[in-house]
Amino acid sequence: MNCSFCKQESIYFRNYEGHHYCEIHFVKNIEKRVKKTISTNKLIEKGDRIAVAHSGGKDSSNVLYLLNKIFSDNPNIELFAITIDEGIKGYRDKSVKKSESFCKKLGVKQHVFSFKKEFGFTIDQLSKKLKSGYCGSCGILKRYLLNKKARELGATKLATGHTLDDECQSIIMNVLRGDLLRFVRIGPMPLLAMHQKFVPRIKPLVLIPENESELFALVNNIPFHPKGCPYAVDNVLRGEVEEFLNNLEKCSPGIRYSLYESAHKIVTFVRKKFKTGKISTCEKCGEPSSRSVCKVCELIEKLSS
Ligand SMILES: [Zn+2]
Ligand SMILES: [Zn+2]
Repeated sequence: MNCSFCKQESIYFRNYEGHHYCEIHFVKNIEKRVKKTISTNKLIEKGDRIAVAHSGGKDSSNVLYLLNKIFSDNPNIELFAITIDEGIKGYRDKSVKKSESFCKKLGVKQHVFSFKKEFGFTIDQLSKKLKSGYCGSCGILKRYLLNKKARELGATKLATGHTLDDECQSIIMNVLRGDLLRFVRIGPMPLLAMHQKFVPRIKPLVLIPENESELFALVNNIPFHPKGCPYAVDNVLRGEVEEFLNNLEKCSPGIRYSLYESAHKIVTFVRKKFKTGKISTCEKCGEPSSRSVCKVCELIEKLSS
């Protein structure tokens, strides 16, 4: 089969759109989509200092690669990477190495921070202490550290590798949990509670399906560590939702986009309600928190007792 836009051989059929893509047109299309997401939502502006949360997986590697490609010649935009080492033997140690060599190859400055050094324990240790719920705790610790370090390093934006699939999973999970207020986190620039210590987050890949993100990394020879944190088994619901959405997409191509669009309409309403929401400061660590002591400080205390 030939590419729908030239005579080259097709490497990908986008079934929700009906077009075949050769390597060149596929890459061009993804780049164009990401640029459009950035410009229409004003994700990046003159004077921005962008921290990319880089795990070494395909999505965050693509974000780093694309932002570097788009902005490396722009003297008004600065870019650097933050990598968090949660301490998962046989998994994160390998991806940190991949991440280090990729940053070096691109010439992007990288800062690595570990749970062990920052919190005093690794996720390997945490999972032994907590019988369940460590996947959620890991997420909380990671977001906390990324925000804190990005701010301390002077970042004005924190870019993450969330794809369309990640967004759709979050949409369904928020509905299942009855937590519609969390819809404010959906979209290319999630609305955070008001606190001067929060670094605004941006998701340049929010309209890119995960399978296309993987193909993009493969055709561009972007080295990445395969997905599959060994502790993801702890997050049963997300796994189920992922499978459910993949099955829906198979029988009804493009359904991820319509789900995202529907949620986006709700987000507008929720954001209006949320605007009044202020958040206080943790009395222990000084980071933003909805309670007097933040979840991270609470966790550290729980583990040391
Ligand atoms: Zn082509
Ligand atoms: Zn705290």
